[in-house]
Amino acid sequence: MQRFVGFVYEEVQMHGTQGQAGFIEIRIAPHGGIRGRCSQCQQPAPGYDRLPERRWQFVPLWGIPTWYRYAPRRVKCGEHGVVVEQIPWSEGKRPVTGAMMGFLARWARRLSWRETAQVFQTSWESVYRSVEWFVRWGLAHRQLQGVEALGVDEIHWGHGLRADNFLTVIYQIDASCRRLLWVGQRRSEKTLRRGLKELGPELVQGLRFVCSDMWKPYLKVLAAQAGQALQVLDRFHITLHMNQAVDQVRRAESTRLRAQSQQQAQRLKHMRWSLLRRGSRVRGQARNKLDALLASKLATARAWELKEIFAHFWKYKSVTWAGEFLDCWCSRAMRSRLEPMKKVARMLRAHEELLLNWFRAKGEISNGAVEGLNNKIRVVTRRSYGFRTFNAMEIALYHTLGRLPEPESTHRFC
Ligand SMILES: [Zn+2]
Repeated sequence: MQRFVGFVYEEVQMHGTQGQAGFIEIRIAPHGGIRGRCSQCQQPAPGYDRLPERRWQFVPLWGIPTWYRYAPRRVKCGEHGVVVEQIPWSEGKRPVTGAMMGFLARWARRLSWRETAQVFQTSWESVYRSVEWFVRWGLAHRQLQGVEALGVDEIHWGHGLRADNFLTVIYQIDASCRRLLWVGQRRSEKTLRRGLKELGPELVQGLRFVCSDMWKPYLKVLAAQAGQALQVLDRFHITLHMNQAVDQVRRAESTRLRAQSQQQAQRLKHMRWSLLRRGSRVRGQARNKLDALLASKLATARAWELKEIFAHFWKYKSVTWAGEFLDCWCSRAMRSRLEPMKKVARMLRAHEELLLNWFRAKGEISNGAVEGLNNKIRVVTRRSYGFRTFNAMEIALYHTLGRLPEPESTHRFC
């Protein structure tokens, strides 16, 4: 059991009915001769009076809910007047001990909050408050020195496409450390500016790389605030745009073919996923169907080919050769008569320098970090229709992806 200087365990009582353990109560008393401390300045002070007994939930012992009982003293501090004494196991007005909050918060990383509440016989709200306390402590104590690469992205959550259904996320994507640094509601210049401000000018001015999508509002803010950093376009975003273009070609062609004949339209049926995957990963029956499609003169086949060829871009080591390749690819796409592919080509051309920065930053930033972290965020947002409010969602995200330091506790049960 944890020891608190200046306090003693007076009595442990098991309460229950018909031989069944209901709960355990641990009565705590002040250690005779040791004065209470002022909760403002932590200095010992003469006693003033005693408040009524309070209860704090402690870590369950042998699976039985356990409570601390204690009547706090008030002390008369020379500086702060009559105040409640410092109670080492208590955090503000919460009826839960710090040890229990840490215990619940650690389990809440492995189980859902609902499951954590069920297993340890407490409420969802209590788990939420515990994780919140844990995360706030971690945010206040985390180190932000040495962050050199930042990834910025947007995440959709919940149902619907309202502005509130998007989050702006800021990651650290250094090769040595990948974590969530900040999350804010909505995706706008304003959101990103707020995020960078909260991370502080020291961090922003120390950045060497910033990685994002080709989305103007983000690019603009990053250029204005971290002008010294190399702006890099993330490979995964480019792939996303490319895939969307192939899919647009397929859908348009599918509609066109259906108008002509059902038999023609069959060739594009159920092809969506094969077309979006990397060619080398399509196998078996899907492969036969894909090969048949490629042998045809369909627009979808040509779009797919353009997408596959572009994958070579990322293999270059030299910026110059990568630039040459990009030029060739864009010219070819512009001649393709496929409007969605032409649109991608125009977009890539407009961002050529940023694209080539990917090769300049190679090895310095963690490749695929943004995509990986996005996927982890989706696991949390999906698991959690319990998180109806942004605040709960935010806490859960920092808790699982923030790599936050943890409050020290003599109790580590997991
Ligand atoms: Zn004081």
